[in-house]
Amino acid sequence: MNLPDAHTHPAPAASGTGLRFVCGTSPADWEQVALLAERDGNVTPFFGIHPWFLDPAAWRRDMRLLEEFLTRFPKAGVGETGLDKCRRGIPGMKMQKDALRRHLDMAARMNRPVALHCCRAWGSLAEMLREYPRLKAILHGWTGALNPASDLPSEDWLLSIGPREMERADIFTSVPLHRLALESDEHPEVLPDLYRIAAQALRMEECRLAGIVTDNLSRISPP
Ligand SMILES: [Zn+2]
Repeated sequence: MNLPDAHTHPAPAASGTGLRFVCGTSPADWEQVALLAERDGNVTPFFGIHPWFLDPAAWRRDMRLLEEFLTRFPKAGVGETGLDKCRRGIPGMKMQKDALRRHLDMAARMNRPVALHCCRAWGSLAEMLREYPRLKAILHGWTGALNPASDLPSEDWLLSIGPREMERADIFTSVPLHRLALESDEHPEVLPDLYRIAAQALRMEECRLAGIVTDNLSRISPP
């Protein structure tokens, strides 16, 4: 069965045969992501700067390089980007929001989906997203922190559940099916377990679930 993966990274190598969103996190791994996408038509590359790797001295300049990668890959998305209040020793909210806004503006201008990371800043993230109602986005590492119906009004914002939350059966049923995505993040080996557990919680066949996630990912992918 082809299990789609809504959020993974080039290392450890994103394996599998289903549709995969492979996210870069800084200019240091963008070429690696590009290579995977060139080799495998099921890989949708994403290029962006993760808040953990935001370099205060370089990120503004790196945005020009980001635009070059997006131009080179017309089917690429923007990300991983986002907001993080959990991690110590990274730039503060002000700079993180500046960088996120630049990513969102570029995605809106070039009509690309965005892969978003968030830790304890869901309210701020939702507030910023509301300014881009037509943007296609995937919120990865979904924890159920917001009410999808009222806090995230766009139909095109997918909520992706990963291995960290897979012991909570209620999380799978709390996401409307047309928004649901599943991801391995840094653990490609757990994807089959994640699908098995999610399918049980949703009382459906695994292959039907894989079909729903594939449709959702395809819907937000660049044409
Ligand atoms: Zn990630």
